[in-house]
Amino acid sequence: MQIQSSFKMDTQRIAGVKYECLLFDMDDTLYPLSLGINLACRKNIQEYMLEHLHIEESKVPKMCLDLYLEHGTTMAGMKALGYEFDNDDFHAYVHGRLPYEKLKPDFVLRNLLLSMPQRKIIFTNADHTHAIEVLSRLGLEDCFEGIICFETLNPINSYQRILCKPSVEAFEAAIRIVNVDPKKTIFFDDSVRNVASGKVAGLHTVIVGRSDLVPGADHALNSIHNIREALPEIWEVEECNQQQMIRSLAVEATVHA
Ligand SMILES: [Mg+2]
Repeated sequence: MQIQSSFKMDTQRIAGVKYECLLFDMDDTLYPLSLGINLACRKNIQEYMLEHLHIEESKVPKMCLDLYLEHGTTMAGMKALGYEFDNDDFHAYVHGRLPYEKLKPDFVLRNLLLSMPQRKIIFTNADHTHAIEVLSRLGLEDCFEGIICFETLNPINSYQRILCKPSVEAFEAAIRIVNVDPKKTIFFDDSVRNVASGKVAGLHTVIVGRSDLVPGADHALNSIHNIREALPEIWEVEECNQQQMIRSLAVEATVHA
């Protein structure tokens, strides 16, 4: 699966349906936070701040969190502060030693995804290598049309400001790249602020990993596995298309009668 720079819409298949596209965050959305990948990642980021950027050890944990909260990712925050480092080196360091073995093939999710008639695209702040590793470990690499990731939104390895969720600009860029109507797109993410920004960008939104609604969320899913019960309308598309087909066949039959 390649990094997508542009997407073509399959207008034939999705004409007249309620939802055309499903945008999925990946980490802690397609697999549970409880696996500990997120925690291990944060630990690696803090180690990078200490070892490579020589930030004082006592300041690292708070700085890591504060920058994450203010800039979307700690990495984006460090760049904004003027720290100079190679994006690929950073990603290799923080993702290279993650306990990927905790991610097992998820056949239930795979079957759910394959049964959804909409276009399905990953929208993650992570880099492409990490995205491919996670998706292949989960056995989902062929379930998505493409991946919008760090490199998609930040094509040049620069020291400039990094574009990432939850910036509304990042959502607008993703919507433009995917070439879809946000009103006909459902966005899934475990991050409260990403969901809030997704709503501002005009998307239909689902918060994943909790059962209570948060500001800007249209639905809440404790687990992505509950998607069929919470959003049956995703599967109503086929029926809607079938009815459309029956209607047009009926019209044809009338004309020819
Ligand atoms: Mg996430």
